[in-house]
Amino acid sequence: MSTSGDRAAELASALEGVRGRVDAACADAGREARRPTLVVVTKFFPGSDVELLAGMGVTDIGESREPEAGDKVAGLPEQVRADLRVHFVGQLQTNKARRVARYADVVQSVDRARLVRALDRGRAEAVDDGAREGPLEVLVQVDLGQGEQAGRGGAAPDEVAALAEDVAAARWLELRGVMAIAPRDLTPDETRRAFDRLVGTGEQLRHTHPGATWVSAGMSGDLEVAVAAGATHLRVGSAILGSRPPQR
Ligand SMILES: *Cc1c(COP(=O)(O)O)cnc(C)c1O
Repeated sequence: MSTSGDRAAELASALEGVRGRVDAACADAGREARRPTLVVVTKFFPGSDVELLAGMGVTDIGESREPEAGDKVAGLPEQVRADLRVHFVGQLQTNKARRVARYADVVQSVDRARLVRALDRGRAEAVDDGAREGPLEVLVQVDLGQGEQAGRGGAAPDEVAALAEDVAAARWLELRGVMAIAPRDLTPDETRRAFDRLVGTGEQLRHTHPGATWVSAGMSGDLEVAVAAGATHLRVGSAILGSRPPQR
């Protein structure tokens, strides 16, 4: 068993390492003035880790599993919760959307019209009963699979425009941009081309939705490529928190 002091030191050192990687990538890309937001993905790790990270200046966390995520966020001290932006980044079943719409600040993984409607209804309820004040911010997840490269979730690129219209038309949702996960086992060049397609999709959306400025891409293994491609948000888990149990 490690003590909480050990865990704090471990997280601080890993966080510093990732911030260093982001700094170096920004310098290489000449974008020191347009630094990406670091979303620390805390799935599988306890609320105590979230508290420690918040104390180290982390402002954005990502979660991907219901109901664990909602329970974890509900258990945070009010002071900690108030200063955090909570992003839901995982596959979301329609029947869980209502709960997520109550506690999340951002849902990055919107991939179908039914989910848009369920999130909008859930947020409307939360606003009605005073649990939340404003709309839920939303990213459309784009499937970057192509040919041999299996996708890892998201709407097909040719469905993104219609889905974005659905989000924009929803009373309690605010379209903020696009998100994607790179296909597995790509070379850095292939990853770069995939992220370039995502950035292009975001640019297309901005013709009709100027507020859709976010591009969420880049995880522990490919954050440098995402910074170079122009990501505005990085989602980093294992490089900061350590390895998780293997997933599906
Ligand atoms: C888990 C997860 C991450 C973080 O992945 P790491 O490789 O651990 O950095 C990012 N995005 C999504 C959607 C995730 O589910």
